[in-house]
Amino acid sequence: MSLEMPCGILDLDARHVWHPFTQAATAGPPLPIVSASGAVLRTEDGRELLDLISSWWVTLHGHAHPVIAEAVAAQARKLEQVIFAGFTHEPAVRLAARVAGLLPGGLNRVFYTDNGSTAVEAALKMAHQYWRNQGRERTVYVGFDGGYHGDTVGAMSAGRASGFFATWERLLFPVEVAPYPATWDGDPEPQAAEAKAFEVLDRIFDASRDRIAAVIVEPLVQGAGGMRMCRPEFLRGLCERVRAAGTLLIFDEVMTGFGRTGAHFACCKAGVEPDIVCLAKGLSGGFLPLAMTVAQDRIHDAFLGPGVDTAFLHGHSFTANPLGCAAGLASLDLLLATECQERIAAIEDVHRERMAELGKLPGMAKPRVCGAIAAIDLDAPDAGYASAVGPRLKQALLDKGLLLRPLGNVLYLLPPYCVTDEQMHRAYDGIAGVLKDIVG
Ligand SMILES: *Cc1c(COP(=O)(O)O)cnc(C)c1O
Repeated sequence: MSLEMPCGILDLDARHVWHPFTQAATAGPPLPIVSASGAVLRTEDGRELLDLISSWWVTLHGHAHPVIAEAVAAQARKLEQVIFAGFTHEPAVRLAARVAGLLPGGLNRVFYTDNGSTAVEAALKMAHQYWRNQGRERTVYVGFDGGYHGDTVGAMSAGRASGFFATWERLLFPVEVAPYPATWDGDPEPQAAEAKAFEVLDRIFDASRDRIAAVIVEPLVQGAGGMRMCRPEFLRGLCERVRAAGTLLIFDEVMTGFGRTGAHFACCKAGVEPDIVCLAKGLSGGFLPLAMTVAQDRIHDAFLGPGVDTAFLHGHSFTANPLGCAAGLASLDLLLATECQERIAAIEDVHRERMAELGKLPGMAKPRVCGAIAAIDLDAPDAGYASAVGPRLKQALLDKGLLLRPLGNVLYLLPPYCVTDEQMHRAYDGIAGVLKDIVG
Protein backbone atom coordinates (compact mmCIF):
# COMPACT_ATOMS: atom_id res chain seq x y z
CA MET A 1 0.00 0.00 0.00
CA SER A 2 1.64 3.22 -1.16
CA LEU A 3 0.94 6.49 0.63
CA GLU A 4 1.12 8.27 -2.73
CA MET A 5 -1.94 6.53 -4.13
CA PRO A 6 -4.93 8.86 -4.13
CA CYS A 7 -7.03 6.34 -2.25
CA GLY A 8 -4.19 5.53 0.15
CA ILE A 9 -5.28 7.72 3.04
CA LEU A 10 -8.79 6.31 3.26
CA ASP A 11 -7.55 2.72 3.02
CA LEU A 12 -5.03 3.32 5.79
CA ASP A 13 -7.66 5.16 7.82
CA ALA A 14 -10.06 2.24 7.51
CA ARG A 15 -7.37 -0.12 8.72
CA HIS A 16 -5.68 1.82 11.49
CA VAL A 17 -7.76 4.72 12.79
CA TRP A 18 -10.53 4.67 15.38
CA HIS A 19 -12.68 7.81 15.08
CA PRO A 20 -14.57 9.49 17.96
CA PHE A 21 -18.37 9.24 18.33
CA THR A 22 -18.52 6.98 15.27
CA GLN A 23 -20.00 3.55 14.52
CA ALA A 24 -17.37 2.44 12.00
CA ALA A 25 -19.53 -0.45 10.78
CA THR A 26 -22.14 1.88 9.29
CA ALA A 27 -20.56 5.34 9.10
CA GLY A 28 -19.02 5.26 5.64
CA PRO A 29 -15.60 6.76 5.01
CA PRO A 30 -14.60 10.08 6.66
CA LEU A 31 -13.94 13.12 4.46
CA PRO A 32 -10.24 13.80 3.95
CA ILE A 33 -9.53 17.52 4.44
CA VAL A 34 -6.28 18.75 2.94
CA SER A 35 -6.28 22.44 3.80
CA ALA A 36 -8.38 25.22 5.22
CA SER A 37 -8.46 28.99 5.56
CA GLY A 38 -10.96 31.39 7.04
CA ALA A 39 -14.26 29.54 7.47
CA VAL A 40 -13.59 27.21 4.52
CA LEU A 41 -12.35 23.60 4.58
CA ARG A 42 -11.01 22.04 1.37
CA THR A 43 -11.53 18.34 0.67
CA GLU A 44 -9.13 16.05 -1.12
CA ASP A 45 -11.42 15.96 -4.17
CA GLY A 46 -11.41 19.76 -4.45
CA ARG A 47 -14.70 20.63 -2.77
CA GLU A 48 -15.10 23.55 -0.37
CA LEU A 49 -17.08 23.27 2.84
CA LEU A 50 -18.21 26.17 4.98
CA ASP A 51 -17.29 25.32 8.58
CA LEU A 52 -20.29 26.62 10.55
CA ILE A 53 -19.43 24.75 13.77
CA SER A 54 -15.88 26.05 14.20
CA SER A 55 -14.63 22.46 13.88
CA TRP A 56 -16.27 21.29 17.11
CA TRP A 57 -16.40 24.76 18.70
CA VAL A 58 -12.66 25.40 18.79
CA THR A 59 -11.74 27.62 15.82
CA LEU A 60 -12.14 31.29 16.74
CA HIS A 61 -10.67 33.42 13.97
CA GLY A 62 -10.65 31.01 11.06
CA HIS A 63 -8.50 28.08 10.00
CA ALA A 64 -4.74 28.34 9.62
CA HIS A 65 -4.88 32.02 10.60
CA PRO A 66 -1.51 33.42 9.51
CA VAL A 67 -0.94 35.47 12.68
CA ILE A 68 -1.49 32.48 14.99
CA ALA A 69 0.42 30.15 12.65
CA GLU A 70 3.40 32.52 12.77
CA ALA A 71 3.25 32.83 16.57
CA VAL A 72 3.26 29.03 16.92
CA ALA A 73 6.11 28.63 14.43
CA ALA A 74 8.23 31.29 16.17
CA GLN A 75 7.60 29.69 19.57
CA ALA A 76 8.44 26.22 18.19
CA ARG A 77 11.86 27.46 17.11
CA LYS A 78 12.49 28.91 20.59
CA LEU A 79 10.96 26.58 23.21
CA GLU A 80 8.50 23.86 22.26
CA GLN A 81 7.87 22.25 25.68
CA VAL A 82 9.21 22.24 29.21
CA ILE A 83 8.15 20.54 32.43
CA PHE A 84 5.84 22.97 34.30
CA ALA A 85 6.47 21.74 37.85
CA GLY A 86 9.36 23.79 39.19
CA PHE A 87 9.74 25.60 35.85
CA THR A 88 7.87 28.36 34.07
CA HIS A 89 7.97 30.29 30.79
CA GLU A 90 6.85 33.63 29.46
CA PRO A 91 3.96 32.54 27.19
CA ALA A 92 2.22 30.66 30.04
CA VAL A 93 2.69 33.51 32.51
CA ARG A 94 1.56 36.22 30.11
CA LEU A 95 -1.47 34.22 28.94
CA ALA A 96 -2.52 33.49 32.54
CA ALA A 97 -2.23 37.18 33.45
CA ARG A 98 -4.19 38.30 30.39
CA VAL A 99 -7.05 35.84 30.86
CA ALA A 100 -7.21 36.69 34.58
CA GLY A 101 -7.42 40.35 33.57
CA LEU A 102 -10.47 39.64 31.40
CA LEU A 103 -12.28 37.55 34.02
CA PRO A 104 -14.15 39.26 36.86
CA GLY A 105 -12.73 40.09 40.30
CA GLY A 106 -10.60 37.61 42.15
CA LEU A 107 -10.46 34.95 39.41
CA ASN A 108 -6.70 35.27 39.28
CA ARG A 109 -5.13 31.83 39.60
CA VAL A 110 -4.66 29.78 36.47
CA PHE A 111 -4.11 26.03 36.63
CA TYR A 112 -3.19 24.75 33.15
CA THR A 113 -4.35 21.47 31.61
CA ASP A 114 -4.78 20.44 27.99
CA ASN A 115 -8.47 19.90 27.17
CA GLY A 116 -11.94 20.73 28.40
CA SER A 117 -12.48 17.45 30.20
CA THR A 118 -9.27 17.78 32.20
CA ALA A 119 -10.09 21.42 33.00
CA VAL A 120 -13.33 20.09 34.53
CA GLU A 121 -11.58 17.19 36.31
CA ALA A 122 -9.15 19.68 37.86
CA ALA A 123 -12.04 21.91 38.96
CA LEU A 124 -13.92 19.01 40.60
CA LYS A 125 -10.82 17.74 42.39
CA MET A 126 -9.83 21.28 43.39
CA ALA A 127 -13.27 21.88 44.95
CA HIS A 128 -13.08 18.64 46.93
CA GLN A 129 -9.59 19.40 48.24
CA TYR A 130 -10.44 23.03 48.98
CA TRP A 131 -12.87 21.78 51.65
CA ARG A 132 -10.66 18.92 52.78
CA ASN A 133 -7.76 21.30 53.38
CA GLN A 134 -10.08 23.08 55.82
CA GLY A 135 -10.91 19.86 57.63
CA ARG A 136 -14.23 19.34 55.85
CA GLU A 137 -15.17 16.28 53.84
CA ARG A 138 -17.48 17.27 50.98
CA THR A 139 -18.36 14.72 48.31
CA VAL A 140 -21.69 15.88 46.87
CA TYR A 141 -21.71 17.70 43.54
CA VAL A 142 -24.69 19.39 41.90
CA GLY A 143 -25.14 19.51 38.12
CA PHE A 144 -27.92 20.22 35.64
CA ASP A 145 -29.98 18.05 33.39
CA GLY A 146 -28.62 18.26 29.85
CA GLY A 147 -25.27 19.44 31.23
CA TYR A 148 -22.20 18.15 29.42
CA HIS A 149 -18.70 18.55 30.84
CA GLY A 150 -16.50 16.15 28.89
CA ASP A 151 -15.80 12.45 28.47
CA THR A 152 -13.42 11.55 31.31
CA VAL A 153 -14.97 9.78 34.28
CA GLY A 154 -15.29 12.77 36.63
CA ALA A 155 -16.56 15.01 33.83
CA MET A 156 -19.01 12.28 32.78
CA SER A 157 -20.24 12.11 36.37
CA ALA A 158 -20.81 15.87 36.46
CA GLY A 159 -22.65 15.51 33.14
CA ARG A 160 -24.42 12.28 34.03
CA ALA A 161 -27.82 13.80 33.27
CA SER A 162 -26.77 14.60 29.69
CA GLY A 163 -28.05 11.20 28.53
CA PHE A 164 -24.74 10.36 26.84
CA PHE A 165 -23.19 8.03 29.38
CA ALA A 166 -25.56 5.12 30.04
CA THR A 167 -22.79 2.68 29.02
CA TRP A 168 -20.57 3.79 31.91
CA GLU A 169 -23.31 4.52 34.42
CA ARG A 170 -21.83 2.18 37.03
CA LEU A 171 -18.45 3.91 36.93
CA LEU A 172 -19.84 7.36 37.72
CA PHE A 173 -19.96 9.02 41.13
CA PRO A 174 -23.35 10.33 42.27
CA VAL A 175 -24.31 13.88 41.37
CA GLU A 176 -27.49 15.73 42.37
CA VAL A 177 -29.28 17.04 39.31
CA ALA A 178 -31.40 20.18 38.94
CA PRO A 179 -33.44 21.14 35.87
CA TYR A 180 -31.82 23.63 33.45
CA PRO A 181 -34.42 26.32 32.68
CA ALA A 182 -33.98 26.34 28.90
CA THR A 183 -35.59 29.29 27.17
CA TRP A 184 -35.82 30.73 23.65
CA ASP A 185 -36.53 33.98 21.80
CA GLY A 186 -40.18 34.81 22.41
CA ASP A 187 -40.60 32.39 25.32
CA PRO A 188 -43.72 33.87 26.97
CA GLU A 189 -42.82 32.74 30.46
CA PRO A 190 -39.19 31.90 31.20
CA GLN A 191 -39.73 32.55 34.91
CA ALA A 192 -41.82 29.41 35.43
CA ALA A 193 -38.98 27.04 34.49
CA GLU A 194 -36.54 29.08 36.55
CA ALA A 195 -38.80 28.90 39.61
CA LYS A 196 -39.02 25.13 39.19
CA ALA A 197 -35.21 24.86 38.96
CA PHE A 198 -34.78 27.00 42.09
CA GLU A 199 -37.29 24.85 43.92
CA VAL A 200 -35.27 21.69 43.16
CA LEU A 201 -31.99 23.46 44.00
CA ASP A 202 -33.38 24.64 47.33
CA ARG A 203 -34.40 21.08 48.14
CA ILE A 204 -30.93 19.76 47.26
CA PHE A 205 -29.21 22.49 49.29
CA ASP A 206 -31.45 21.81 52.28
CA ALA A 207 -30.94 18.04 52.15
CA SER A 208 -27.17 18.09 51.59
CA ARG A 209 -26.06 21.30 53.29
CA ASP A 210 -22.41 21.14 54.43
CA ARG A 211 -21.78 18.16 52.17
CA ILE A 212 -21.84 19.94 48.79
CA ALA A 213 -18.37 20.44 47.31
CA ALA A 214 -19.58 22.50 44.32
CA VAL A 215 -22.31 23.28 41.81
CA ILE A 216 -21.23 23.01 38.17
CA VAL A 217 -23.08 24.66 35.28
CA GLU A 218 -22.61 25.64 31.64
CA PRO A 219 -23.53 29.33 31.86
CA LEU A 220 -26.01 30.86 29.34
CA VAL A 221 -25.67 28.00 26.83
CA GLN A 222 -25.55 24.23 27.34
CA GLY A 223 -23.59 22.95 24.34
CA ALA A 224 -23.77 19.21 23.67
CA GLY A 225 -27.08 18.98 25.57
CA GLY A 226 -28.76 20.71 22.61
CA MET A 227 -27.64 24.37 22.62
CA ARG A 228 -30.12 25.06 25.40
CA MET A 229 -30.00 28.64 26.59
CA CYS A 230 -30.85 30.15 29.96
CA ARG A 231 -31.28 33.75 31.04
CA PRO A 232 -28.62 35.73 32.92
CA GLU A 233 -31.29 36.24 35.61
CA PHE A 234 -31.22 32.51 36.31
CA LEU A 235 -27.44 32.49 36.77
CA ARG A 236 -27.67 35.44 39.17
CA GLY A 237 -30.33 33.66 41.21
CA LEU A 238 -28.25 30.48 41.16
CA CYS A 239 -25.18 32.35 42.38
CA GLU A 240 -27.16 33.91 45.27
CA ARG A 241 -28.36 30.48 46.35
CA VAL A 242 -24.89 28.93 46.08
CA ARG A 243 -23.53 31.73 48.28
CA ALA A 244 -26.34 31.26 50.82
CA ALA A 245 -25.68 27.51 50.87
CA GLY A 246 -21.98 28.17 51.50
CA THR A 247 -20.63 26.07 48.64
CA LEU A 248 -18.63 26.72 45.45
CA LEU A 249 -19.84 27.68 41.97
CA ILE A 250 -18.00 26.26 38.94
CA PHE A 251 -18.71 27.78 35.52
CA ASP A 252 -17.81 25.40 32.70
CA GLU A 253 -17.04 27.96 29.99
CA VAL A 254 -15.20 25.48 27.79
CA MET A 255 -17.62 26.29 24.97
CA THR A 256 -18.99 29.71 26.00
CA GLY A 257 -15.59 31.35 26.58
CA PHE A 258 -13.77 33.75 24.28
CA GLY A 259 -16.65 35.69 22.77
CA ARG A 260 -19.11 32.98 21.80
CA THR A 261 -21.94 34.51 23.85
CA GLY A 262 -21.15 38.03 22.64
CA ALA A 263 -19.15 38.93 25.78
CA HIS A 264 -15.58 37.75 26.43
CA PHE A 265 -17.04 35.22 28.89
CA ALA A 266 -20.58 34.21 29.82
CA CYS A 267 -19.88 35.13 33.47
CA CYS A 268 -19.19 38.72 32.37
CA LYS A 269 -22.40 38.83 30.33
CA ALA A 270 -24.42 37.40 33.23
CA GLY A 271 -22.78 39.64 35.81
CA VAL A 272 -21.85 36.67 37.99
CA GLU A 273 -18.48 35.97 39.60
CA PRO A 274 -18.06 32.20 40.04
CA ASP A 275 -15.40 30.59 42.23
CA ILE A 276 -13.86 28.50 39.45
CA VAL A 277 -14.01 28.84 35.65
CA CYS A 278 -13.05 26.11 33.15
CA LEU A 279 -11.69 27.22 29.76
CA ALA A 280 -10.44 25.26 26.74
CA LYS A 281 -11.58 24.99 23.07
CA GLY A 282 -11.18 28.62 21.88
CA LEU A 283 -8.36 29.34 24.35
CA SER A 284 -5.66 28.63 21.75
CA GLY A 285 -7.79 30.04 18.93
CA GLY A 286 -8.51 26.40 18.10
CA PHE A 287 -4.90 25.65 17.10
CA LEU A 288 -3.67 23.42 19.91
CA PRO A 289 -5.06 21.49 22.86
CA LEU A 290 -4.84 23.85 25.81
CA ALA A 291 -7.05 24.44 28.83
CA MET A 292 -7.20 26.31 32.12
CA THR A 293 -9.01 26.01 35.40
CA VAL A 294 -9.11 29.52 36.83
CA ALA A 295 -9.72 29.86 40.56
CA GLN A 296 -10.34 32.71 42.95
CA ASP A 297 -7.24 33.72 44.91
CA ARG A 298 -8.95 32.57 48.10
CA ILE A 299 -9.31 29.04 46.71
CA HIS A 300 -5.65 28.90 45.71
CA ASP A 301 -4.65 30.18 49.17
CA ALA A 302 -6.46 27.28 50.86
CA PHE A 303 -3.82 24.98 49.30
CA LEU A 304 -0.88 26.78 50.95
CA GLY A 305 0.80 25.12 53.92
CA PRO A 306 4.01 23.63 55.19
CA GLY A 307 3.61 20.20 53.55
CA VAL A 308 2.70 18.75 50.17
CA ASP A 309 -0.42 17.16 51.65
CA THR A 310 -2.43 20.36 51.11
CA ALA A 311 -0.89 21.07 47.68
CA PHE A 312 -2.86 20.32 44.51
CA LEU A 313 -1.05 17.17 43.35
CA HIS A 314 -2.49 17.04 39.85
CA GLY A 315 -0.87 17.63 36.47
CA HIS A 316 -0.56 16.52 32.86
CA SER A 317 2.46 15.95 30.63
CA PHE A 318 1.64 18.87 28.36
CA THR A 319 0.54 21.28 31.09
CA ALA A 320 0.97 24.87 29.81
CA ASN A 321 2.54 23.75 26.54
CA PRO A 322 4.42 26.80 25.19
CA LEU A 323 3.09 26.36 21.63
CA GLY A 324 -0.50 26.38 22.88
CA CYS A 325 0.18 29.41 25.08
CA ALA A 326 1.79 31.30 22.18
CA ALA A 327 -1.27 30.51 20.06
CA GLY A 328 -3.48 31.70 22.93
CA LEU A 329 -1.69 35.04 23.19
CA ALA A 330 -1.95 35.65 19.44
CA SER A 331 -5.59 34.60 19.48
CA LEU A 332 -6.39 37.02 22.34
CA ASP A 333 -4.85 39.92 20.38
CA LEU A 334 -7.13 39.08 17.47
CA LEU A 335 -10.19 38.62 19.72
CA LEU A 336 -9.78 41.98 21.47
CA ALA A 337 -9.31 43.92 18.21
CA THR A 338 -12.27 46.14 17.27
CA GLU A 339 -12.59 44.33 13.96
CA CYS A 340 -13.28 40.98 15.66
CA GLN A 341 -15.70 42.48 18.20
CA GLU A 342 -17.61 44.05 15.31
CA ARG A 343 -17.73 40.71 13.50
CA ILE A 344 -19.19 39.00 16.59
CA ALA A 345 -21.93 41.67 16.77
CA ALA A 346 -22.59 41.36 13.01
CA ILE A 347 -22.87 37.55 13.26
CA GLU A 348 -25.44 37.96 16.04
CA ASP A 349 -27.43 40.40 13.87
CA VAL A 350 -27.58 37.92 10.97
CA HIS A 351 -28.52 35.10 13.39
CA ARG A 352 -31.40 37.16 14.79
CA GLU A 353 -32.78 38.14 11.40
CA ARG A 354 -32.50 34.69 9.82
CA MET A 355 -33.45 32.58 12.87
CA ALA A 356 -36.67 34.62 13.20
CA GLU A 357 -37.46 33.62 9.59
CA LEU A 358 -36.60 29.95 10.14
CA GLY A 359 -38.80 29.99 13.24
CA LYS A 360 -41.81 30.74 11.02
CA LEU A 361 -41.29 27.64 8.83
CA PRO A 362 -43.64 24.77 9.58
CA GLY A 363 -42.20 22.22 11.98
CA MET A 364 -39.64 24.61 13.47
CA ALA A 365 -39.68 25.71 17.11
CA LYS A 366 -37.79 27.67 19.74
CA PRO A 367 -35.38 29.77 17.68
CA ARG A 368 -32.73 31.16 20.00
CA VAL A 369 -29.64 33.31 19.74
CA CYS A 370 -26.90 34.13 22.23
CA GLY A 371 -24.04 36.13 20.73
CA ALA A 372 -22.43 34.16 17.88
CA ILE A 373 -24.41 31.00 18.74
CA ALA A 374 -27.83 30.30 17.22
CA ALA A 375 -30.07 27.22 17.43
CA ILE A 376 -33.53 25.99 16.53
CA ASP A 377 -35.49 22.76 17.16
CA LEU A 378 -37.13 20.63 14.49
CA ASP A 379 -40.39 19.02 15.53
CA ALA A 380 -39.61 15.30 15.55
CA PRO A 381 -41.47 12.35 17.07
CA ASP A 382 -38.11 11.09 18.36
CA ALA A 383 -36.82 14.48 19.61
CA GLY A 384 -33.42 14.21 21.31
CA TYR A 385 -29.80 13.47 20.47
CA ALA A 386 -30.65 10.15 18.76
CA SER A 387 -33.33 11.71 16.54
CA ALA A 388 -33.20 10.22 13.03
CA VAL A 389 -33.60 13.65 11.44
CA GLY A 390 -30.08 14.72 12.58
CA PRO A 391 -28.00 12.55 10.23
CA ARG A 392 -30.37 13.27 7.29
CA LEU A 393 -30.04 17.01 7.84
CA LYS A 394 -26.29 16.76 8.20
CA GLN A 395 -25.90 14.90 4.90
CA ALA A 396 -28.27 17.17 2.98
CA LEU A 397 -26.41 20.25 4.24
CA LEU A 398 -23.02 18.69 3.48
CA ASP A 399 -24.20 18.08 -0.09
CA LYS A 400 -24.69 21.87 -0.30
CA GLY A 401 -21.19 22.54 0.99
CA LEU A 402 -22.32 23.40 4.53
CA LEU A 403 -20.65 21.73 7.51
CA LEU A 404 -23.22 21.60 10.29
CA ARG A 405 -23.63 18.86 12.84
CA PRO A 406 -27.13 18.86 14.28
CA LEU A 407 -27.49 17.61 17.85
CA GLY A 408 -30.33 15.22 17.03
CA ASN A 409 -33.29 17.43 16.12
CA VAL A 410 -31.47 20.62 17.16
CA LEU A 411 -29.90 22.57 14.32
CA TYR A 412 -27.29 25.12 15.39
CA LEU A 413 -24.65 27.44 13.99
CA LEU A 414 -21.48 28.33 15.85
CA PRO A 415 -19.24 29.85 13.18
CA PRO A 416 -15.70 31.19 13.49
CA TYR A 417 -15.70 34.99 13.83
CA CYS A 418 -14.07 35.51 10.43
CA VAL A 419 -17.22 34.25 8.66
CA THR A 420 -18.53 36.95 6.31
CA ASP A 421 -22.12 38.20 6.12
CA GLU A 422 -22.26 36.75 2.60
CA GLN A 423 -21.20 33.31 3.89
CA MET A 424 -23.72 33.55 6.73
CA HIS A 425 -26.59 34.37 4.38
CA ARG A 426 -25.49 31.62 1.99
CA ALA A 427 -25.56 29.20 4.92
CA TYR A 428 -29.04 30.31 6.03
CA ASP A 429 -30.36 30.16 2.44
CA GLY A 430 -29.04 26.59 2.19
CA ILE A 431 -30.52 25.65 5.55
CA ALA A 432 -33.93 27.07 4.64
CA GLY A 433 -33.89 25.06 1.40
CA VAL A 434 -32.96 21.82 3.14
CA LEU A 435 -35.55 22.35 5.90
CA LYS A 436 -38.29 22.86 3.31
CA ASP A 437 -37.28 19.56 1.66
CA ILE A 438 -37.00 17.59 4.90
CA VAL A 439 -39.65 19.06 7.19
CA GLY A 440 -41.94 21.22 5.07
C1 LIG B 1 -16.44 20.26 24.77
C2 LIG B 1 -16.78 20.54 26.17
C3 LIG B 1 -16.07 19.93 27.22
C4 LIG B 1 -15.00 18.90 26.98
O1 LIG B 1 -13.91 19.46 26.31
P1 LIG B 1 -12.89 18.46 25.56
O2 LIG B 1 -11.78 19.36 25.14
O3 LIG B 1 -13.66 17.88 24.42
O4 LIG B 1 -12.47 17.43 26.53
C5 LIG B 1 -16.39 20.29 28.51
N1 LIG B 1 -17.36 21.18 28.76
C6 LIG B 1 -18.07 21.77 27.78
C7 LIG B 1 -19.11 22.78 28.14
C8 LIG B 1 -17.81 21.47 26.46
O5 LIG B 1 -18.53 22.04 25.49
